[in-house]
Amino acid sequence: MKRTPKVIIVGAGLGGLECGYLLSRHGMDVCVLEQGAQVGGCLQSFRRHGLQFDTGFHYVGGMGEGEILHQLFSEFRLTGLPWVKLDTECFDEVFLDGEHYAFANGYDRFADELSKKFPQQRPHIAEYVNMLRRSQSALLSQGGAADSTSETLLATSAYQYLQECIPDERLRKVLSATSLKMDLRADTLPLYIFAQINGTFVQSAWRLRGGGQVIADTIADGIRTHGGQVRTRTRVTGIHVNEGSIDHVILNDNEIIPCDLVISDIHPNALFPLLEEGSLRKRYVQRISSLENSFGVFTVQLLLKEGAVRYRNRNIFIHNHAKIWHSETWDDRQNGTSIGVHFSVPTDGSEYTRNIDLFMPMSWQEVAPWTGTRPTQRGNDYDEFKQRNAEAAISAVLPYIPDIQGNIEKIIVSTPLTYRDYTHTFEGSAYGICKDYDHLISTMLPIRTPIPNLFLTGQNVNFHGVLGVTVTAKMTCGQVISALPMLS
Ligand SMILES: Cc1cc2nc3c(=O)[nH]c(=O)nc-3n(C[C@H](O)[C@H](O)[C@H](O)COP(=O)(O)OP(=O)(O)OC[C@H]3O[C@@H](n4cnc5c(N)ncnc54)[C@H](O)[C@@H]3O)c2cc1C
Repeated sequence: MKRTPKVIIVGAGLGGLECGYLLSRHGMDVCVLEQGAQVGGCLQSFRRHGLQFDTGFHYVGGMGEGEILHQLFSEFRLTGLPWVKLDTECFDEVFLDGEHYAFANGYDRFADELSKKFPQQRPHIAEYVNMLRRSQSALLSQGGAADSTSETLLATSAYQYLQECIPDERLRKVLSATSLKMDLRADTLPLYIFAQINGTFVQSAWRLRGGGQVIADTIADGIRTHGGQVRTRTRVTGIHVNEGSIDHVILNDNEIIPCDLVISDIHPNALFPLLEEGSLRKRYVQRISSLENSFGVFTVQLLLKEGAVRYRNRNIFIHNHAKIWHSETWDDRQNGTSIGVHFSVPTDGSEYTRNIDLFMPMSWQEVAPWTGTRPTQRGNDYDEFKQRNAEAAISAVLPYIPDIQGNIEKIIVSTPLTYRDYTHTFEGSAYGICKDYDHLISTMLPIRTPIPNLFLTGQNVNFHGVLGVTVTAKMTCGQVISALPMLS
């Protein structure tokens, strides 16, 4: 391929943008196509009542100098953004049936803090923390790619590991209580995902003033600076395969863009219908389409009166639920709730926040009666469902954040249906395809597909979250670059 290869990226989620950035910097002719009005996918923000709200993003780990996300983000020039380090002595605060526990930053401080609450468990906590350390060194040494340590942790059940390593049931619950950022399925979750996510947050935890949109916009600007294109309100409606290779994509207004290769940052179940029937073997499509997806979320975003509610530089996790694992049973709201509480960094430097997000896992089944509806036309029973759950969430957090009482100006509620219709995640799933330690080969999707010039990226492929998606984007670009000579 003598001329500059034309790369089309479907979807401007974090993974699509990162691939666009790396490949445009590498000199390729990149065009990122996004059907939404804004770039960012799950990272995007929206404005309501004069204020900016995040659709999903709350915090990241490992942004301290020399830590994994800091190293990766320096490539995208994201380290200079207004990151705010959460309180070192307690970045996450857990309330389990009313009892309080602090997660402190730094492996030793984290272990010491928990050992004060569970003195008999000190050696077990040390063993757990060593496992987190090992998973982080594996990540760092391989730049995110799997090595023998990560492969072993991937093939181990996170639930089983905790059962064996931590004899105290309450401590097991505490260690898992901040993990609403993954699907805590006892029968499938690989230890590596649990360790990789928890380990980076134990290292250091950060919010971003301005929210996730700042990340997405900064990367999109970088692509344009490298000469690439980022087009919003542009939906890919077809991908044309000629003699086994993609030769062009078709857009919603019937525009045709010829290309040399395509990277898909969308869920495979949204990708397959874009390809003509027969482009991929039925068995490949059926196998991937049948994989399970993570839960969605029910979010209650509170717009607060000015100068009324003190900003907390930590997250709060409240569990009044019998089960922290077995996330597939969390819809049983009669038996309690699991809620993450996230405070927005004040943009004006004040000590009061204007926005708190309450975040609860919710399955697609819970919104099943309304899946055939569109926004604003879902009916009164849907509005009642939202109101009932929003009131329950607010009552559950009130004892822990009493200053919200009387200071809520407006409430914005989202369900998995909202995410499906606005961020276009498959069935509103928050974290994409669930990985299974016992079926790694079938649940960790390869970046390469049977079509030689079609590549995958994004949270469905490998790991979810800002860190996981960034690691995958780098791997996707590596595969694209090494495949180029074969594609010419
Ligand atoms: C509620 C919520 C909270 C979260 N909180 C955090 C957090 O605090 N920290 C963290 O690290 N991670 C968090 N995550 C996870 C993280 O946001 C995601 O893992 C990551 O952003 C996913 O990026 P992605 O590249 O896979 O694509 P996505 O974000 O899924 O983006 C895909 C994009 O493709 C577009 N698209 C789809 N079909 C087409 C088409 N046919 N043509 C053109 N465009 C198309 C969509 O509109 C979308 O913009 C959260 C996720 C959710 C849902």
